[in-house]
Amino acid sequence: MEQQAEIWHEVKTQLASQLESNTFEEIFESVDSVFKVRNNYIYLLVDNDFIKKRIEMLYLKRMNRLLENYVSEKHEYRLLTKEEAEEELQDEKSRELNHPDHEVYDEAYLNSNLNSSYNFRNFVVGNSNRLAYTSALKVADQPGIVANPLYIFGDVGLGKTHLMQGVGNYILEGDINTRVLYVKADKFVEDYVKYSSKKKYTEFNDIYRNVDVLLVDDIQFLAKKEKSQEEFFKLFEVLRDQQKQIVITSDRKASDLRDIMARLTSRFAWGVTVDINRPDLDHRIKILEKKLMAETNDPSIFPKKVIEYIASVFDNNVRELEGALKRVLFYCTAFDYDFTIKNAEIALVNLIQPKKSSKNFIKDKLQNLLSVVSDYYNISTSDLISKKRKRMYLYPRQIAMYLIKDIYDLPYKKIGSYFMNRDHSTVMHSVEKIHNDLQIDKDLKIDVEKLKHKCGENA
Ligand code: ADP
Ligand code: MG
Repeated sequence: MEQQAEIWHEVKTQLASQLESNTFEEIFESVDSVFKVRNNYIYLLVDNDFIKKRIEMLYLKRMNRLLENYVSEKHEYRLLTKEEAEEELQDEKSRELNHPDHEVYDEAYLNSNLNSSYNFRNFVVGNSNRLAYTSALKVADQPGIVANPLYIFGDVGLGKTHLMQGVGNYILEGDINTRVLYVKADKFVEDYVKYSSKKKYTEFNDIYRNVDVLLVDDIQFLAKKEKSQEEFFKLFEVLRDQQKQIVITSDRKASDLRDIMARLTSRFAWGVTVDINRPDLDHRIKILEKKLMAETNDPSIFPKKVIEYIASVFDNNVRELEGALKRVLFYCTAFDYDFTIKNAEIALVNLIQPKKSSKNFIKDKLQNLLSVVSDYYNISTSDLISKKRKRMYLYPRQIAMYLIKDIYDLPYKKIGSYFMNRDHSTVMHSVEKIHNDLQIDKDLKIDVEKLKHKCGENA
């Protein structure tokens, strides 16, 4: 601030030398303090609205040009009348009154591991996530009572973490003394290993058991970590007995979790399970509009057509959708281009082309894989992908599904789409079956290795 005040003094001296002395005195003489510096804007205090308007209209550009000589980062001047500044101060005071103790507030947030930017207000609701959203809101409103645990599942980038953190933030906003803890499941495992290797069980329990609300993200990462599962099981029991709210997210249904003890996964279904799906076009447009409001002061600079264009290209993941918008915003603002579809295309070319070409690439590979498998088992490709239940078709089909998952790791739903739109769980069970059979069936193992080899994979 002090430095900014000095710089303003310099800029002002320059203005004095450039302007008619009457004008300078009338307008700039009394402008002598910097009110605040926020987000690269330096706010100067002026006496009244009349002077503010005159400076904005006639001199602001010149001031900003002069400013450039003194600052390394991009900064700009803005003006506030004394009245406006007074209002801001009042607002700030009343905010402080609502949260009298800043330190308690900051500490509660720090301990919770929450990111306050994930809240319900900026979560856009549509058909694909409405049930998940209303359930989360109910849980946040009455933790421990309406749905315990709340289990949210869905593919990556669809808002599970956002919604889960929304629960935590809502609860903290309501009562800062509630002990909320957000943790990713892999961090839980890491902590458990760390504390148990030093036999510091009490400290571990101090962290995890002294909570009112426990949010565990991506529970699938507990797979194969038996000790941590055991510990989590105990924690779950302790918290649930005391009606402490537990929220869990996962990339699949609890019953489909692999390598996690059934004792645990069956408990996940004791509460309420909800899923989040891909947003449809309208929903994606709404999400972009909301993000745009958060990114710019003036969303009207961005034509609806361009929004629709972005929404139509990025159709399966909100994170990518968001990234695309930011990129277009950055590109057009940085180079001062208009927000047109053409410019958006240019800005996104690197994101779209690999996406398209990788799609084609995978498509070719998949077609090859399907014909390799059908040749190997002497059936036609159309029988292979059909819904016929005879074992001579069924088994190769399950193997084909397994191979696609194993080699390309596509989402189950996506794999299902190559087999007459089989649903997510059918594909998952097939993959699992083959996975299990492989442990005991040597011939199958040889077949699968040969098939992989024929698909061009070095098994
Ligand atoms: P997941 O945990 O399911 O992988 P995230 O919660 O991390 O997904 O969401 C990815 C990004 O998309 C985040 O930036 C999040 O804010 C945003 N997002 C997802 N769904 C929505 C929504 N319905 N409204 C607003 N933003 C969303
Ligand atoms: Mg997540």
